[in-house]
Amino acid sequence: MRVASPRPIADWSRTTGLHSAAHPAAARAESGPGRVPDMVLGAGEIRFMSEAERWTVIEVSNQSTGYCPDVTSWAEVARALDAAELRRPTRFTHEVVFRRCPECQEHNIVREDDFVCVFCGGDLPAVWNVDPTA
Ligand SMILES: [Zn+2]
Repeated sequence: MRVASPRPIADWSRTTGLHSAAHPAAARAESGPGRVPDMVLGAGEIRFMSEAERWTVIEVSNQSTGYCPDVTSWAEVARALDAAELRRPTRFTHEVVFRRCPECQEHNIVREDDFVCVFCGGDLPAVWNVDPTA
């Protein structure tokens, strides 16, 4: 089986303006039967599968504790994947809701719509407020 170029992945990170933290081993990974290269990007995780001579995104998430992107970043991700001509899901296959606690400033991952800070018990805002550049 031919080894596909990792270029679409690089394009994605560049297009979305996010810093790639692609695993070096994954970039070299050979695609064989049952072998799927994993890519970890600064803005989440993405997993590709080679299918009929074409790369397909089988899993993509916004799970990144460093960047903590909002789930609304999907539109940008989808656009970049389309530009790279990758088949993709219609949304994040795994969505993570990040919020910064206004009380203690800790980053939380909201589970089951429970908008309460796990660190101090304070209320978390309904709107995404995690911006590492702020
Ligand atoms: Zn808190």
